[in-house]
Amino acid sequence: MLRELIAAPSISSTTPDWDQSNLAVIEHLHTWLEALGFNCEVMPVPGEPTKANLIATLGTGPGGLVLSGHTDTVPCDPQLWRSDPFKVEERDQRLYGLGTCDMKGFLALAVEAAKAFVDQPLKSPLIILATADEESSMSGARALVDAGRPKARAAVIGEPSSLRPVRMHKGMMMEAVRIEGRSGHSSDPSLGANALDAMQQVLNELSAFRTELQSRYRNSDFRVDVPTLNFGCIHGGDNPNRICGHCELEFDLRPLPGMSLEGLRDAISARLLPFGERFGVKLEARPLFPGIPAFETPASSELVNLAEKLTGHKAQSVAYGTEAPFLQQLGMDTIVMGPGSIDQAHQPDEYLALDQIQPTIDILKQMITRYCL
Ligand SMILES: [Zn+2]
Repeated sequence: MLRELIAAPSISSTTPDWDQSNLAVIEHLHTWLEALGFNCEVMPVPGEPTKANLIATLGTGPGGLVLSGHTDTVPCDPQLWRSDPFKVEERDQRLYGLGTCDMKGFLALAVEAAKAFVDQPLKSPLIILATADEESSMSGARALVDAGRPKARAAVIGEPSSLRPVRMHKGMMMEAVRIEGRSGHSSDPSLGANALDAMQQVLNELSAFRTELQSRYRNSDFRVDVPTLNFGCIHGGDNPNRICGHCELEFDLRPLPGMSLEGLRDAISARLLPFGERFGVKLEARPLFPGIPAFETPASSELVNLAEKLTGHKAQSVAYGTEAPFLQQLGMDTIVMGPGSIDQAHQPDEYLALDQIQPTIDILKQMITRYCL
C-alpha cells in the first residue's frame, strides 16, 4: 500500500505551478477500504475540482474513533535525493520516499490496523479520514468543518511525532500591511505622502504589540514559551530622491492556545488603521491566508490518558501546525500521534524507519479496541 501511495504524486503548494491533484491517493484508499467493507464517501473540496477528502466508515452509530491523515505532500527537489522520491526504496532499515513519514505511511498503517476488525461487529464506528491540502491551505480540513463531518468521540492525527502523543501546538497567522502613499520630488515633502514614514510607525506599533503579547501570554509547555511575531519581508519605494509611494510588509504571528486569531486581527487593525489618516496614506491590514488556530487538548482528556498509557510517553507540545484544531472544532477529543520523526519531514531523503511500523499498528489496534469494540 505504501509503495502505491508514494507512487501517486500529490504535492500541494500555494505556488500553482507545483500544485497537484490528490485524487489518485484518494482513489487507492477508496478501493482498499471499500474492499474491507468500509462505507466510503469522497467529499469534493469546494472550488478545487482536483482535490477531495475521503471519509471511510466501518460500523455505524455515534461515538467511535477517527484515524486521520493528509494525502498531500510538500514539493521536493529530486536532484537532492539519493533515490527517486516517488519510489519507495528500502535501505538501512528505512523506507525512503516523499510522504513516507509525512504522512502517507500513517494512512497505510491505519488501513493495516483496521483489517483486524473487519469481521467483528463494532459497537461504535471506526472512521479513516484522508484530507486534502494540509501542506498548503488546509482547505480539506476547512471543508470538513463547514460540512460538520465526520463526528466521533475521538480523533488521532498521525503526523510524525515518533509515536509520542501531542496535545498542543501554537497557531499560525500570516498577515500583510499595505501602504499606498503618494510619490513626488523628495526636495519638497509636501508634494506627496511617504509610505515608508508610515511603515516605520507600523513597525514600531507591531513591536510594541509583540512586547505586550509576550508579557501577557506565556506557556511553559512550549520550548518557545511566548507568542512570536516575526517581520518576514518588506518591499517599498524605488529611488532615494522620490517620496516613497508604496510599501508592503509581511509578518507571521504564532499565538499560544487561548489566543484567538480573530481577536488578534481585530487588535492589529485597531492599532494600525489610525496611521492611515495621520500620514495621509491608504493603509490596509489583511491576512495572507485564513490562518491555523492554536490547539490544546486538556492533559486530563480520556484520549490523552490512553495514548500516554499505550506509549509510555507524556503528551507534549510541538512547534508545527496541524489539522487538529479543525477536528477539535467538530467536537472530537483530538491528539496528534504518528510514526516517523518530524526531523525527516519536508526534506530530501525523507524516510520512515522500519522499527516504527509494528508499534504503530499495535497502538492503533488497541485504540480501536478501546473506542469501537
Ligand atoms: Zn504532515
